[in-house]
Formats: sequence, C-alpha cells, structure tokens
Amino acid sequence: SSMKIIENFEELIRINKMQDDVKVVKTGCFGLCAEGPIVMIYPDHIMYTTVQPDDVSELFESHVQKGEVVKRLLAGDKTAEEITNALDNVDFFSRQMRVALRNCGAINPEEIDEYIARDGYLALEKVITEMEPEDVIDTIKASQLRGRGGAGFPTGTKWSFAAAQQVAQKYVCCNADEGDPGAFMDRSVLEGDPHSLIEAMAIAGYAIGANQGFVYVRAEYPIAVERLSIAIEQAKAYGLIGKDIFGKGFDFDLEIRLGAGAFVCGEETALMTSVEGKRGEPRPRPPFPAVKGLFGQPTILNNVETYANVPVIIMKGADWFANIGTEKSKGTKVFAVGGKINNTGLVEIPMGTTLREIIYDIGGGIPNGKTFKAAQTGGPSGGCIPASELDTPIDYESLIALGSMMGSGGLIVMDEDTCMVDLARFFLEFTVDESCGKCPPCRIGTKRMLEIVTRITEGKGTMEDLDKLEVLAKNIKASALCGLGQTAPNPVLSTMKYFRDEYIAHVVDKK
Ligand code: SF4
Repeated sequence: SSMKIIENFEELIRINKMQDDVKVVKTGCFGLCAEGPIVMIYPDHIMYTTVQPDDVSELFESHVQKGEVVKRLLAGDKTAEEITNALDNVDFFSRQMRVALRNCGAINPEEIDEYIARDGYLALEKVITEMEPEDVIDTIKASQLRGRGGAGFPTGTKWSFAAAQQVAQKYVCCNADEGDPGAFMDRSVLEGDPHSLIEAMAIAGYAIGANQGFVYVRAEYPIAVERLSIAIEQAKAYGLIGKDIFGKGFDFDLEIRLGAGAFVCGEETALMTSVEGKRGEPRPRPPFPAVKGLFGQPTILNNVETYANVPVIIMKGADWFANIGTEKSKGTKVFAVGGKINNTGLVEIPMGTTLREIIYDIGGGIPNGKTFKAAQTGGPSGGCIPASELDTPIDYESLIALGSMMGSGGLIVMDEDTCMVDLARFFLEFTVDESCGKCPPCRIGTKRMLEIVTRITEGKGTMEDLDKLEVLAKNIKASALCGLGQTAPNPVLSTMKYFRDEYIAHVVDKK
C-alpha cells in the first residue's frame, strides 16, 4: 500500500497544481515495521503511522494544504506543537542512537544529492585529500570498531593485515548475504542508504591499497540490488568512484555479485569462492583472507553494517565512537527485532543497552498481556537469553558469556507460550538444510542431532537422548570445518542450559 499512498499524494499534488511547492520523496525503511506505512511531513517533522491509501486525501487537505495536523494518525503522544523532531517523539526512536541507520528513512536512496546533502562523501574526500592510508587505519583501530557480522573481530586490525601485504592487487569485499531467519539489517541499509556502503568501501580501498571492490548480495533482495546498482552508477557519474578520485591518483571500482541463496555463502571463505564464480564452499583458515583471499590476493571482508559506521567515524573522530558503548564493545548495534513483541522492527542501540530496554522501552513489551520467556540472538548460530538475564548489558562478551552471541543482529522474542524445544528444532532444521556437506561433523552430526530433537518433540525421546545430544553438540562444535557447523549446536545447547525442564517434560522416562 506504500506505492498506492505515493500515487495518491502525487495525484492530489497534480490536481491542485502544487508541483512547485510539494514533493513526494520515497525513502528506505524507518525501522518501525509494526506501524507502517509511515508518512513524514516536512518541514513540520510530523510522523504519521499506519497510513492507508484512503487516508491520503485527509492528510493532504488538512496538513499539506491547511497546516492542520491529523491527530488520529499521529505517531506518539505529544501534541503537534511539542514536536520538533518526529523521531524523538516516539519511544521507539527516542531511545535509539542511529549511526549505521542515520539516513534510513531520511533520504531518497536513489538520489545521490540527498546523501551528499547529509554530508555524504565528505569522509571519502577527507581521507583521500588529507590523510595517509595508515592514518585511516589508525583511526579505525582507535575507534575500536568491531565486525558487525557476528564474530566481532577488530575492523582496523583486519584492515592493517591486508595493508601490510606488499602486492599490487588487493580487494575490498562486502558481505551482504544476510541469511539468518528474521534478520534484515543489511537489507535496510542497502535499500535506505546504499551510498554509505559505497563511500565506506572506497575508504577501505584507499586504506589497504585496493582498487577493486565487490559487494556480495543475495539475489532475494531485488530492491537492495537495484538501489545499490543505481547508487554505484551515480557515484561513478559524480567521479566519487572510478579513476583518479578527487584528483589524487586513487582509483576504485565497485561491482555487485549476486548470491544464490546458500546460507553457507555468508561464511567468508565460501563467499569469496562464490564471488570467484565457483561453488561456495568454506575452506580451512589460515591462510586468512587478509593474506590470501579473493583470487588468491589479500582481501578484507566486512558486512554492510560495519562499513556503514566508517564514514561517521572518519567525520566525527575515533574518540567520539569509542566513547559510545561498553569497555570492549564500542559504538552501536542494529537489531532486527521480531517475534512476540509489539514494536517489531529495526532498532539501533548503543552497546551496553539492556535487553529489557530493547524489549520493553523500545519494543513496547509483549503483546496480549503475555510474559516474556526468552530472546534468541545470533540466529541459527546463537542461543537464547532467559528472563533472568533481561538486565544484562548487551555486548559481544556478555552474550557469549550467556551462551548466545551477537551474530549479525537477529533478535527474536518468545513469550510464555513458546516451546523452547520446538524453537531449537527450528534452528537445527535450518542448519541441516543449509550445511554444505563438506565435512562429516556438520553433514552427519547435525542430522543425528535433529533426529534426536525431533524424537523428543514427538514425545518419544529418553533421558539418554539428552546426554547424547550434549555429547554430539560438543563434538560438532569442536570439529566442524567452518562457523556454520561450529555454531549449529548452540540453539540446542543454550535451550538445554536454561530450559532443561522443558526437554525433560517431553521425554518418556522422566527422572
Ligand atoms: Fe560445510 Fe558444515 Fe563443514 Fe561448514 S561445517 S564446511 S557448512 S559441512
């Protein structure tokens, strides 16, 4: 219905001959999925939520033509006079800190001028005209930015490994193969702010001495692919990528490669094999990609959200970034919040925010008066966080200590009615389907685990099955070749840790 809303506004503008005064701008996602479609009216900064095509004539006649706010569609609970920034008016937004998502919902992603108007490409100009490559790496290191794709490796350190390789050809690569069930952080940045990725990748290329970049994006994201393609063409037309950028002799080109839906291609070595045009299978590390990556050359690979932080760090400084967050986890993190929660959507919070704040203050709590049971982070690689840990500040270390992980940012909320054994089975089934089959612990071991968990969910399992599950899980974690297999047992292990009673309730020989 968003497209119909746009059409209706445009028609009324045409009928009323207001083309010179009023413009409809199509933006990316604001993040508040539960309240969409959203219409913002500028310069008043008034946000309307759950707008339907039939509401457009009232919005147009009242607000656009007469300046009168339509209260029934207003977001939040402040009066129109109190609103100076619509995003601050709604708890969902006012408790967030939007760094990676800074432009999502605020600009037309298909217009490079709108990105430039919000200081876009200033960071690229700054690094190329004022900084040496090693200064750029030092800045990223000092910011303490860590990879947002899951593992949390320090980004500046990764870049320095590639920069140290004395070879003519290096590559910059972006992992936009977002495959976790329920995760759509990268998609939103690509659809809402593709230039931030292009700018960051050019900065990374300058820093490590690479003149070619690849964005590996899943083909199931057609709007993201289209907008990124448009953005690359526009950046080329403006001379912001291509030959001799800012007249300083630095060349950087960027290409898109489409993934065909294999979850394992999100693993870095498999991803690079796929970019090379081969079957996407992981390979053992070392050598690490920073030494031997794409086409055997030094390559850095970061995900979309990691890159989206880079231009801001360059412009606002490493100290600014390093002052946000916890001792070891700096900056913000984007989460795709879904499941049994009122405000489903995309949220970006400073590291160290508690799960309670995300779920109750930003997420609006659990629907239908139910109680919170657990939240799953990290998708099929992660684990669940029970209600007793709601006040744990979220960062890389605390989630691992709880038996879960940050992952790329999927956060699924479960209420009292969710069966945790079913949940574990869901994720295990996913990894069994997605295993590439290269190594036996993952190919065979996860299947055996799924058989046991299925037996338990069908009420045919035994106490001995619980022991077998744990032994299998530990062996697979220790011996699988890549991250997919090494983390596949996590959903089972963490649900067994916190909700063992539910497993026992299912077995036939309870003790
Ligand atoms: Fe393939 Fe699984 Fe082995 Fe990874 S762990 S290489 S996905 S079989």
